[in-house]
Amino acid sequence: MNYKKISIASVAVGMFAAGAAFAQDAEIATWSGFRKGAASFTFDDGAPSHVTDAGPMFKKYGYKATFNLVVNWNPNWSGFQGLADEGHEIASHSNSHGNNMSGEEASSKKNIESHIKQKYGIITVAYPNCNVPNESAVKQNYIVGRICNGSWKGMNDEMGKDGPSNWAQVPATMTGAEGQLKSTNDFTGRMQKVIQSNGWAAFLTHGFQGKNNGNANYSPTDINAIDGALKWAQQNDKDIWVAPMGHVAMYLKERKASKIEPQDGGAANTMAFELKHSIADNISKYDYPLSIRVKSDWKKVEVTQDGAKLESKVDGGYIYFDAVPNAGKIVVKNAAAAAPESSSSAEPPQSSSSEPEVSSSSTTALPTQAFDGRHLAAYVDASGYITVQNAQGLSITVFNSLGNVVRTTKGLGLEQKVYTGAKGVYVVKIGNKAWSLKIK
Ligand SMILES: [Zn+2]
Repeated sequence: MNYKKISIASVAVGMFAAGAAFAQDAEIATWSGFRKGAASFTFDDGAPSHVTDAGPMFKKYGYKATFNLVVNWNPNWSGFQGLADEGHEIASHSNSHGNNMSGEEASSKKNIESHIKQKYGIITVAYPNCNVPNESAVKQNYIVGRICNGSWKGMNDEMGKDGPSNWAQVPATMTGAEGQLKSTNDFTGRMQKVIQSNGWAAFLTHGFQGKNNGNANYSPTDINAIDGALKWAQQNDKDIWVAPMGHVAMYLKERKASKIEPQDGGAANTMAFELKHSIADNISKYDYPLSIRVKSDWKKVEVTQDGAKLESKVDGGYIYFDAVPNAGKIVVKNAAAAAPESSSSAEPPQSSSSEPEVSSSSTTALPTQAFDGRHLAAYVDASGYITVQNAQGLSITVFNSLGNVVRTTKGLGLEQKVYTGAKGVYVVKIGNKAWSLKIK
């Protein structure tokens, strides 16, 4: 198949999850949205027409591109900041556009960052005149170093789903008068190819025929050819992911390094997952959302990550959502189920000895309950955190006053902060014990 597949054995079920047994697959999509291929449009040399013509054209179709700027050519900084604000990627193309940018790897990044603020920082670079500079300096500053036409230098400019063999030599196919791609059909042919191969294509454009291109006068491209390509991409959006080079590179690196692993859901009709990777460098946090799907017959779900609601959809026996790696536990709740333990959890019944005992506390009291030979406690500390004691290895679930799960986790240390949120009454369950607590 076209995505990383991780078999999941049955999920450990908490004490309140009677009747819910899970054995499902969770998958990370090869490309965002489970699309089949990816395409990145990159624009070099900071042409005025990139702001006045390319920006509005991409906006028309809802897509984002990469703009590689030359510091000393004084591009329209405020115009490119406007593009960054719309979600486009601003990237480096050196300080001076010399024949070889060696020595300018770090400084050009820093200089552009002094003008442009954007979510993921300046994380990619395109080499002037297609000459590869000092690769180790590139790799210390960027997650992508972009070369020109791969085939022009006798290299392959197709990239498969695993990306380039060398991140300091990521190929892009030249467009326009001197390039390989001139017409809409040239672009769509390349995109059809990556859809078939589950690969990634990057395009390299300078200015446009008949537009104000400033220094970007090499190999002008017919802007209508790109307009047609974007129109085709929009019609085929379920198959082709059009996104900036740096964003696709983040996604690809994260996807290859991430694992999605089931956790104790802590309540009936609840699944929980951790999505984690351990990539560490000083360039990117690698926090681009990954597309996930989980096999399930649930018809209506609510998905949260670290307590925040995620967009989700249910389709064809799968639950789909995008989540950020290393950003907290993902909880998938069956929203269609009549969840008796949830609806009653704000006031757990006390009549049966098998049901949780409830202790109420003010913010300072520490009512303890004996369980498994230890003294469990849950309380709200001075900073407003629901904190638990002696819960090592036990499942901990926090419900709000509506009975909805707002946090599930596992006891770790002697004392552990587990939740803080809006003012109100919460029920905390540890093992088969429960506390009603008030965050003031
Ligand atoms: Zn250039």
